[in-house]
Amino acid sequence: MAETKQFKTEVKQLLNLMIHSLYSNRDIFLRELIANAADAIDKARFESLTHPEMAREWQIRIEPDKEKKTLRISDNGIGMTAEEVVENIGTIAKSGTRAFLQMLEEKGAGKENLPELIGQFGVGFYSAFMVAEKVELRTKKADSDAPAVSWTSRGEGEYELDSEIEKSEPGTEITLYLKPDAEIYLESWKISDIVSRYSDFIAYPIVMPERKVNSDKTETVTDRTLNSQKAIWLRKPDEITPEEYKSFYSHLANFGGTEYLKAIHLTAEGMSEFKALLFIPKQAPFNLLMPDIQKKGLQLYVKRVFITDECKELIPDYLRFICGVVDSSDLPLNVSREILQENPQLHRINKAVTSKVLSELKKLLESDPETYAAFFREFGRILKEGIHTDRENQEKLKDLVMYESMNTEPGKMITLANYVDAMPESQKEIYYISGDKREAVASSPALEYYRSKGYDVLFMTDPVDDWIMQSMLQYRKKHFKSVAKGDFEADEADKSAAEETVKKATEKFARLVDFLKKTLADKVSDVRFSVRLTDSPCCLITENNGLSPHLERLFKAMNQEIPASKRILELNPNHPLVEALFECCNKDETAPELTAYVKVLFDQALLMEGSPIPDPAEFARQITRLLLTGIKK
Ligand code: ADP
Repeated sequence: MAETKQFKTEVKQLLNLMIHSLYSNRDIFLRELIANAADAIDKARFESLTHPEMAREWQIRIEPDKEKKTLRISDNGIGMTAEEVVENIGTIAKSGTRAFLQMLEEKGAGKENLPELIGQFGVGFYSAFMVAEKVELRTKKADSDAPAVSWTSRGEGEYELDSEIEKSEPGTEITLYLKPDAEIYLESWKISDIVSRYSDFIAYPIVMPERKVNSDKTETVTDRTLNSQKAIWLRKPDEITPEEYKSFYSHLANFGGTEYLKAIHLTAEGMSEFKALLFIPKQAPFNLLMPDIQKKGLQLYVKRVFITDECKELIPDYLRFICGVVDSSDLPLNVSREILQENPQLHRINKAVTSKVLSELKKLLESDPETYAAFFREFGRILKEGIHTDRENQEKLKDLVMYESMNTEPGKMITLANYVDAMPESQKEIYYISGDKREAVASSPALEYYRSKGYDVLFMTDPVDDWIMQSMLQYRKKHFKSVAKGDFEADEADKSAAEETVKKATEKFARLVDFLKKTLADKVSDVRFSVRLTDSPCCLITENNGLSPHLERLFKAMNQEIPASKRILELNPNHPLVEALFECCNKDETAPELTAYVKVLFDQALLMEGSPIPDPAEFARQITRLLLTGIKK
């Protein structure tokens, strides 16, 4: 019952890439197929915990045939039904693949990165076409009456499916008809080299038949096991080579390449017994912020038996960039995925893992601040979420966050401890300003007073910062204060002079203030004086509980309904422009140029804080007019 079917478009695109590109490292096709085989055995083994009749002597076999020029990889794992073959191999249902192809198109990602990316996106099976001109898959689903199936393809747009074949044992067998330039993969030394490099820790024996010619010229064939199967997380750290760490990391990390920043071993005894090996990755994958693509959680094993690779209960969401393995000795082996959700043991492991990761990060920050800063640049925006979501570890997390600030060079960050340590005696609060990016906040007039006092102001330029600040409240008993929100408060020493200046200006310029309130009635909720500014004539301030302008933009960009908020226009009582406007207003309040001046003043206040102006063309026209009158004088 063979039939020919077409691949889905994405598969065609992907195959095209596999077949026609040149790879720096074709070896990884074997790693991918072995990983699939091991996953399939994991599944069957998990099922066999409750269905003992499914238990087998689990094994992955690799059989090169030099005469036929084929390489066969087979497993006795879970297998697939015909529907599953069509779904898993003929289609790429995963949203990840489309994103993968899109990214390749957009970024023109270097061919040399392709193997890593293939691993990240779980399009592993197709990597067989890097070395094979034809691939044949025969599979039989374990514990099912469904007939065995075969699938054959040359990777050229279509595949053949035979939904009823002879295959007695459950499992999957993949035969690669090697391309002439890939015959090296028939050599046993090459195969065993790849296995020990990439798949040594696979928990099942990977065996290869070996022919030996005896002295009497007869041949014996014996199976040789190529991998040590040592669970690396159970071994002593000083007995693990950097190579082994690396290859285990790349096996685990469904994102993040092969480089990691730190490996963390954790052994817990007492209330809950478990061993864990965790990795802090070096680089964030480009899909880090796409939660539906990225797998979350750690791998859970119970006494070396694989249970699940997406155990979210083992680690808080804000540490989702950590990958690793937890092997528990006190969970029941036949633990179901539902039970996992409310298991107090997992809760304990989660606490211990969190605490260990945070203390390792703290150590890194103290011993190697530069590396830490590089880490924070990659993962900081995720780590920060914990300040909002994990009250228990909030103080520890506050020690781990970094920001750029008014006094740092662009690109350099400081911790809250650095900030507080550098605070002059007279400074009582931690100042910050939030906005889209450094350039926008760094030129905000709202910084002027603080600059003149020699205080630093933290730049909060991550979209999540404003949200997190709602939980931040204070650090080392110092409160946080946004410099662009709410009432301005001068230092104790300047207070009475400031109040006096504001009082005098309010009296003196009352007429101007009234005029501004009238003219800008639909734009601002109030017009007032403060000594917040030293150089600029005015700035816009958000009310204490109002949304900052960049958050407002963000919500709008996400199509969220938010009430239009009016802001407060603050004037600098000492600025000559205020005096000049006042005179103009006194002379003739109805003069058309006065209204034009005020509109320009408001628009430039928007520009200064990095907000867009409603009508740039109109703004430009007004400026031209003003320039003309200025030049003519
Ligand atoms: P991934 O393994 O990342 O899911 P692949 O393209 O390598 O992506 O495989 C697609 C799917 O095909 C797998 O998720 C699995 O369901 C199925 N599959 C692949 N190889 C095997 C195998 N040896 N045994 C059973 N199922 C397999």
